[in-house]
Amino acid sequence: MDIISLSSGSKGNSYIVRDSGDTLLIEAGLPPKKLKEGLWDYDVDIADIDLCLISHVHQDHYKSAEFLSERGVEVALPEAADEQIQRLPREDRVTYLKSKGSYAKRFWVVKAVDLEHDGVVNYGYFIMNTKSRDKLFYATDTMYIKYKPESVNYWLVEVNFQDKYLEEAIKEGRMDRDNMRRIKRSHMSLATAKVFFSKQDLSDTREIWLLHLSDRNSNPTEVREEIQKATGKEVYLA
Ligand SMILES: [Zn+2]
Ligand SMILES: [Zn+2]
Repeated sequence: MDIISLSSGSKGNSYIVRDSGDTLLIEAGLPPKKLKEGLWDYDVDIADIDLCLISHVHQDHYKSAEFLSERGVEVALPEAADEQIQRLPREDRVTYLKSKGSYAKRFWVVKAVDLEHDGVVNYGYFIMNTKSRDKLFYATDTMYIKYKPESVNYWLVEVNFQDKYLEEAIKEGRMDRDNMRRIKRSHMSLATAKVFFSKQDLSDTREIWLLHLSDRNSNPTEVREEIQKATGKEVYLA
């Protein structure tokens, strides 16, 4: 599998996963023009995208969902999402996934799992390509992850903030306590990510990608180094 991050974080999320000539897009959180440019940069034709998986309907993950479905891309997102927003018009191109449900499209098999995003319906995805048998686990915008997926080769996991920078922001009056509580209920800290990885069997792991880092509340160099030290694996920042 080849992983390409087009954009990660609150300004927009979108990741290309390529495997044996198959192309999967995870998240559609860029405006259409930017998404098109990003795909163009990596030689991906919209018509080549087998499937676009969306974790939840916040704009930084969802913005181009309608655009992609209008262009004929199969878009899959959580089933409850339609209660939180208007349904997408191209119903023939949209699949609403059930939690713990499995879904297959061409050579991709996907299992959706619930995450903890302060009450917003949000899924993580366990993804396999049936040709290469490579496995990927994707989870973002979540307070913690309670799963122990087996024989994962690629991890794409959020590390949003470091507690020390939230505390610093409070002390300096740049943030109030309600805001801090909201962040802690919606996003994963470096400390929580370390606990998560310490519980995983990493023997099949090839790459770890860290997603959705906060500009203000994290230090990318520290985050990368600490996860690298804790796991002993190749770590990339998206
Ligand atoms: Zn987000
Ligand atoms: Zn979100």
